[in-house]
Amino acid sequence: MPAIETLEELLKHELKDLYSAETQIIDALPDMIDGAKNADLKKALRDHLKVTKAQKDRLDKIQELLGEEKQAPERKGFFANLFGSNEGEEHCKAMEGLIKEGNALLEEDMDEDVMDAAIIAAAQKIEHYEIASYGTARAYALELKLGDIAKLLEQTLNEEYKADDSLTKLALSKVNIDAENSDDAPVKTVKKAASKTAGKSAKKSSPKKAKTSRPAAQKKIKSR
Ligand code: FE
Ligand code: ZN
Ligand code: FE
Ligand code: FE
Repeated sequence: MPAIETLEELLKHELKDLYSAETQIIDALPDMIDGAKNADLKKALRDHLKVTKAQKDRLDKIQELLGEEKQAPERKGFFANLFGSNEGEEHCKAMEGLIKEGNALLEEDMDEDVMDAAIIAAAQKIEHYEIASYGTARAYALELKLGDIAKLLEQTLNEEYKADDSLTKLALSKVNIDAENSDDAPVKTVKKAASKTAGKSAKKSSPKKAKTSRPAAQKKIKSR
């Protein structure tokens, strides 16, 4: 008999993976906050660190609702011992990779304005992994008619969308522009057009509806 036989077991597996992912993010964010120069970017990352800690607690609550053992540090499994933190029974290798890549960027010899753009990119890759995983877990919970759990997962999903959107806004309104002008070349007139696009694109993706926003180009092709 396979170890994972049902959709509910797959959901439990996914939730353990997410627990590990959130734990790794909590460990990784302080270095990204330190590495950022732009005050708004620092604040956005700091705010999301707080949100992330609450998301980890929410996963604990979900595990309790599912009747799983609480993934407390004293119940650390093999992987948790291996990686020396309180990640729980699973280790999310994808998050390990995304964080390693982000940390490698932080080590690069980079102009500080360009570094801010790189940090946003690394952070958004992390958010997108979380959006995919929470979206999937929520769909499983809905399929299994676990309404309370689906609602909790949707709460986190919307927070991840919100974090992603605020990073997009920051990039388009300021950070990418500063990075473009990092060599102190005269500021180009493109600046205005860029901030205009930022407002537009931020409006397009609604964090409340938990829907994936598609690039404008993709939309066009679809409607043809
Ligand atoms: Fe998260
Ligand atoms: Zn696994
Ligand atoms: Fe994973
Ligand atoms: Fe997140």
